[in-house]
Amino acid sequence: MQTIVERHPGLTPPDRRAELLREPGFGKVFTDHMAMAWWRDGEWTAPRITPRRPLALDPAAAVLHYAQEIFEGMKAYRTEEGEVLLFRPEVNAKRFARSAERMAMPQVPEALFSAAVEALIRTDRDWIPSGEGSLYLRPFMIATEAFLGVRPATEYLFCVLACPVGAYFKGGAKPVTVWASTTFTRAAAGGTGAAKCGGNYAGSLIAQAEAIRHGCDQVVFLDAAEHRWIEELGGMNVFFLVDGTLITPPLTGTILEGVTRSSLLTLAREEGLKVEERPYDFETLKADAASGRLTEAFACGTAAVVAAIGEVRHAAGAFAIAGGVEGPVTSTLRRRLTDIQRGQAPDPHGWTRR
Ligand code: PMP
Repeated sequence: MQTIVERHPGLTPPDRRAELLREPGFGKVFTDHMAMAWWRDGEWTAPRITPRRPLALDPAAAVLHYAQEIFEGMKAYRTEEGEVLLFRPEVNAKRFARSAERMAMPQVPEALFSAAVEALIRTDRDWIPSGEGSLYLRPFMIATEAFLGVRPATEYLFCVLACPVGAYFKGGAKPVTVWASTTFTRAAAGGTGAAKCGGNYAGSLIAQAEAIRHGCDQVVFLDAAEHRWIEELGGMNVFFLVDGTLITPPLTGTILEGVTRSSLLTLAREEGLKVEERPYDFETLKADAASGRLTEAFACGTAAVVAAIGEVRHAAGAFAIAGGVEGPVTSTLRRRLTDIQRGQAPDPHGWTRR
């Protein structure tokens, strides 16, 4: 696909870039460029790389009023040999298309999605950290039509940003503490839980604030109907190792189908683990943690990859999982996945794209 590249006239000087790359944190440092394509008159324009700059939006743009917005999150890694690898970008492109369908937005063809992401990475490749870091890509789409009626907009912007990132959780891969919210839920049957739309995250912020107030890193949501079944974290899927079986909640339309989740399911089966996608409820989690049947729990997602869960807090108390230390299955699965992502292990599934 033809991509127009408009280079930044005043790139970040190399020494300033090196300084920013030393401790980028997560989501605070951005590269010099962005990719954009517009949906007008029922078709997409070719992708264009431009200097990263503020958007000019009409204050009546539909996204500002009715939240027609979707996004993705994926990473590019620099290998020890200096190559750049994207991890399963076609899975993100497909999920973006499903999110678009759910939010009554036009689909971005996979070829356009890939062309925009790859052209941005090529333009800003000096921003990809080496070592532990990676380049986080944020494709998103917003409704730009100026119109205050409640109907799908007729004009959209597809845009991709890139951020060099370090570790997601401050303090590295130490086990996290999660807050099980019985006050707030994330998604109900028939809702938008399986779509990666901004509104889902806006609605989760108060629950995340509740988690932080209780000294936790993340919130874990229970189902909306019974407040009983474990669903997922604010931005990660969740796994439990019970009697040697790896359990993760099923995809019933209320949770996001994580790329990390799906990859770990495959790797766990390859490790010879019994794996079940099935409902697991909070009372059973408590009982299994107390009896010792639950030996490990972890959360997973693109940003943090795999994070052991060491403690669960809730309105009526708290309990530790396996003494609050990361277990061997969690460590093994994280290492297997990150080795593939960074090109340090064979990739039999063809997950990485050069
Ligand atoms: N659940 C939610 C709600 C998320 O925001 C994310 C992050 N995209 C995930 C799960 C994990 O998905 P992935 O592994 O594709 O990053």
